[in-house]
Amino acid sequence: MRIVDIREQTGALQTSMRNAFIDFSQMTVSLVAVVTDVVRDGKPVVGYGFNANGRYAQGGILRERLIPRILAADPDTLLDETGDNIDPFAVFGAMMTNEKPGGHGDRAIAVAALDMAVWDAVAKIAQVPLWKLLADRFNGGNADGRVLVYPGGGYYYPDGNLNKLRDEMQSYLDDGYTIVKMKIGAADLATDLKRIETVIDVVGGDGGRLAVDANGKFDLETAIAYAHGMKPYGLFWYEEAGDPLDYALQAELANHYEGPFATGENLFSHQDIRNLLRYGGLDPQKDWIMPDPALAMGLTEGLKIIDTAEAENWPRERIVLHGGTQLALAMSAGLQLGGTETYPLMFQPYGGFADDTPIENGFTTLPDLPGLGIEGKAKLYEVMKPLGE
Ligand code: MG
Repeated sequence: MRIVDIREQTGALQTSMRNAFIDFSQMTVSLVAVVTDVVRDGKPVVGYGFNANGRYAQGGILRERLIPRILAADPDTLLDETGDNIDPFAVFGAMMTNEKPGGHGDRAIAVAALDMAVWDAVAKIAQVPLWKLLADRFNGGNADGRVLVYPGGGYYYPDGNLNKLRDEMQSYLDDGYTIVKMKIGAADLATDLKRIETVIDVVGGDGGRLAVDANGKFDLETAIAYAHGMKPYGLFWYEEAGDPLDYALQAELANHYEGPFATGENLFSHQDIRNLLRYGGLDPQKDWIMPDPALAMGLTEGLKIIDTAEAENWPRERIVLHGGTQLALAMSAGLQLGGTETYPLMFQPYGGFADDTPIENGFTTLPDLPGLGIEGKAKLYEVMKPLGE
């Protein structure tokens, strides 16, 4: 068997939301199709991938570097030991040829989209859901039948309307979620505390059901001011207070706030995660790390991130994946991580899970389609399918 073609295209995000740092209306996504010569049900097996929201499409890196390297490799060197399927680690090695270590930047996003498509193809060729393939290959056959999920949302509405925020949060509860998340840091502290109290009211007065996310906006002084302001609420977590790479700020903030922290979505390699765990002052008993496999060089690097975290005495149950993709869901289930974000309303059609995936008491079940399950998310498949034809 062999990979016969790899195609990429830039897609648009259908969203007008903003957080403390960026406006998402201009954001793009790279879509990738890996076409193989394996035939199932009379059609070639095609793996699909895309990068998560928050970074831009990376067509140049895909077209000029990653895709030509894979297509130029001897096809036999990209196969696993059976010779009947792709070896995703070999494909990862081929696309990273002649790339210097460190400073991953936007290439991490390009690699993530392409690596996702490769793993989708691998699981489809094996004729199993990706979560099951991961459980069988890397987790002794163990998988979680249901996964903790929380909706990423609570963005700033253009007119600052608290009723719209309230309605959005209520809609998540109506859909079966128990923990919700909202953005902070794009208003002043007093305004944000009012927004937080509005949402705590929606979730029945329990701050432990609300996470807040500053998207890396605060300097140390502001981060500490918010910590003092939010302390009484007993929040589920306080996410990305300062710059994602400022581990000293994160470590100092821990001296001013006893509640759980979460961070890591803007670290794109296992080396960066290792530095966070060594120098960020995080506590594996109460804090969370939240890498995003659809931004951080894909599932292949995600496996290394999990190994790295465990080597730093960080339990995999305290990894809650960012990004709300079907890849994050498959990894959470098949590798028994802590759970994953999802985007029922934002970043369509890429965010969220298969159309018939139920959310009950904050947990979701798994798709039984082969691969990632993109074919079970009609609007997403509509966008991806032409790329594979
Ligand atoms: Mg975040």
